[in-house]
Amino acid sequence: MNFLITGGTGFIGSTMIKFLINQTNHSVLNIDKLTYAANIDSLKTVSNSPRYQFCQTDICNQTELATIIKSFRPDIVMHFAAESHVDRSINTPETFIKTNIIGTYTLLEMVLNYWQQLDSIHKEAFRFHHISTDEVYGDIEHPNDFCTELSPYRPSSPYSASKASADHLVRAWHRTYGLPVIITNCTNNFGPYQYPEKLIPLTILNAIRNMPIEVYGDGKQIRDWLYVEDHVRALYLVVTKGRIGETYNICGNNQYQNLEIIQMICDILALKRPGDYKQLITFINDRPGHDVRYALDRSKIEGELGWKPLESFYSSLYKTVNWYLNNY
Ligand code: NAD
Repeated sequence: MNFLITGGTGFIGSTMIKFLINQTNHSVLNIDKLTYAANIDSLKTVSNSPRYQFCQTDICNQTELATIIKSFRPDIVMHFAAESHVDRSINTPETFIKTNIIGTYTLLEMVLNYWQQLDSIHKEAFRFHHISTDEVYGDIEHPNDFCTELSPYRPSSPYSASKASADHLVRAWHRTYGLPVIITNCTNNFGPYQYPEKLIPLTILNAIRNMPIEVYGDGKQIRDWLYVEDHVRALYLVVTKGRIGETYNICGNNQYQNLEIIQMICDILALKRPGDYKQLITFINDRPGHDVRYALDRSKIEGELGWKPLESFYSSLYKTVNWYLNNY
């Protein structure tokens, strides 16, 4: 099959492309604007494959999208492209509105035009998979509460509000026009090639550079963590076996306070390169609108598709720390 991947030079998209090239026979076209978050090196092991093509494009560019879709003739579209960093969304919300909302709308329109012209067999087999986040459900304060796919949307930041908007558009294009969509909402990913503005790579790099490891507020915000390769396995299962029009939550069931994550990283680093990294921890003012806890219930994907993470949290965190030590 032909997989059109948007944002495939980013952290999760590039891991998805490596999976598709190395573990399947599918062909891939990656369309990516190459923002600051893109890392071309993340694809160096597959970029020479005859089954891989790249096109530098903004998903807001209607004309280019239409031409690309028409000539590549995708069977599957997996939509990863987004502005993805909450802190940046607080300082510059406009780029989030443009890419995450207008970009998703533009892509939906161009894909719908293409899909409507397919013959009935290709029309039925086609999928538009939108990759989204647990942050759309907002803050979950009670420790025993977990969000299911039916929980209400209560986004708090410009980032999560823009992703929630995109989710609503994708559902609407299914209900209104019949486009065969699937949505997944996942918790925090980590692993190699993540841009070092996110908690885990930023902590590792600041620690080894002997710079302050800044912690928002008291550091007690709880997040769930999933190794990126486990996320990608879940996405492939959902896009090939999931039910049209459905949403699937994906998570690792690894809930930790941000401060606990930072302390674990300091402990792993101390094993590899002895030093007192914890003395670099510096508490700073909390960021506005900071959610206290996200937590997902993954019974649907487990029950329907039999997915579970293969990696343990500690061993994948250890591998990730090692990767940053060897690559920076
Ligand atoms: P990322 O920031 O690492 O990569 C995003 C990619 O999209 C980059 O390569 C960038 O160049 C590209 N891009 C940005 N704007 C574009 C535009 N207008 N047109 C074309 N390409 C554009 O993001 P990521 O961490 O790989 O996340 C991928 C998707 O998964 C996002 O939609 C994000 O919301 C979602 N998600 C991420 C996480 C996480 O923990 N990283 C968790 C859940 C969901």
